[in-house]
Amino acid sequence: MPTLSRDFLSDLDSRDELAPFRDEFHLPQDLIYLDGNSLGAMPLVAKQRILEVVAQEWGEALITSWNKNGWFQMAEKLGDKIARLIGADPGEVMACDATGINLYKLLSMALDMRRDRRVIVMEGSNFPTDNYMAQGLIKQLGRGHRIYFAEKEDILAAITEDVAVVSLTEVHYKTGHLLDMKAITEKAHAVGALVIWDLCHSAGALPVFVNDCHVDFALGCGYKYLNGGPGAPAFIFVAKRHQGRAVQPLTGWWGHAAPFAFEPDYRPADNIRQTLTGTQPILSLAALECGLDIMCRADMAKIREKSMNLCDYFIALVEEHCGGYGFSLVTTRSREERGSQVSFRHKQGFAIMQALIADKVMGDFRAPDIVRFGFTPLYTRYVDVWDAVMRLKNIMENNLWQKPEFNRLTAVT
Ligand SMILES: *Cc1c(COP(=O)(O)O)cnc(C)c1O
Repeated sequence: MPTLSRDFLSDLDSRDELAPFRDEFHLPQDLIYLDGNSLGAMPLVAKQRILEVVAQEWGEALITSWNKNGWFQMAEKLGDKIARLIGADPGEVMACDATGINLYKLLSMALDMRRDRRVIVMEGSNFPTDNYMAQGLIKQLGRGHRIYFAEKEDILAAITEDVAVVSLTEVHYKTGHLLDMKAITEKAHAVGALVIWDLCHSAGALPVFVNDCHVDFALGCGYKYLNGGPGAPAFIFVAKRHQGRAVQPLTGWWGHAAPFAFEPDYRPADNIRQTLTGTQPILSLAALECGLDIMCRADMAKIREKSMNLCDYFIALVEEHCGGYGFSLVTTRSREERGSQVSFRHKQGFAIMQALIADKVMGDFRAPDIVRFGFTPLYTRYVDVWDAVMRLKNIMENNLWQKPEFNRLTAVT
């Protein structure tokens, strides 16, 4: 670890090949934004693009835009761009619906492909919506499925011959730990199970190789590291070898083999289009495309390298300058085993985060006691790490977090 100073970090910025990407985002004056893992910053072109789609494609061309402006193919076109970011091939990814909904579709398909098995392996401490959706689905199916909730250390051992599906999130939303996609997928396949990988905190944050790892199914979020905007469409990946093999349960007309034939009965498309259900939000897809186009121009290996450095330096500086104030590191120190975020545990985490936000360092709080900082190499500078820690130090030194206004609970944390 080099000796860290503001000058040292500033020098890294001046030599950083990713630095120019920062100018492509709108970032509020003086704000150090360390929450791009929750809602990515706005690409400047998104504003222009949305205005154009509203004024021209919707306003003027109206319904002809489905053909003329490619609206009908948008989910697929964006899916192909996402495919490049996650190591998938063209025709294997769609940009559509929400993360939770895509998980529901995939889990249903996977269970249908393993009808003689009843067990689903998930991580108990995962972002709850994944687990909630699985619970809702098996209740709906009523076929006696059960979910075995494992934690990181016992996942491999939990993958036994009775397991139908292993459904996991690669990077943990709270701790930032990175699961071994290749080893877990191999183990699942060795016992005849299928895998679903949730890439919410992976896509755009680190290199992902779904096909090299022989992943069956995957999904993820558009509004985090992909910078697609609030509520952006999510994505869904189905490996080519599984397309046409199982039918996703939300059998709307967009997943029909011939949507405009308006046949009386459902007949599934035998390709990735079967993952669709109905009309997609075109304005949101247009915004998402702006984020994807930037991401597709960036070198993912460089993103990963910078992300690991930013996280390492942040950990080192917090420990050096705020060491005596009761923070304990939750994220692993091993850069290979974490995503692009750092979490600390602190009893007063909520109030500390509110005080930080008031001082223009934006991270977030995850109950009961975790302060979480996401690092997005496309628009976070090395000096931001220094400045953020100095503001945190000031808050701790002067007990600024104790102010009443930082101790009132908010609906969204
Ligand atoms: C962010 C996130 C989600 C979000 O789900 P939505 O359906 O988009 O609300 C789901 N799962 C994980 C693991 C996440 O990190």
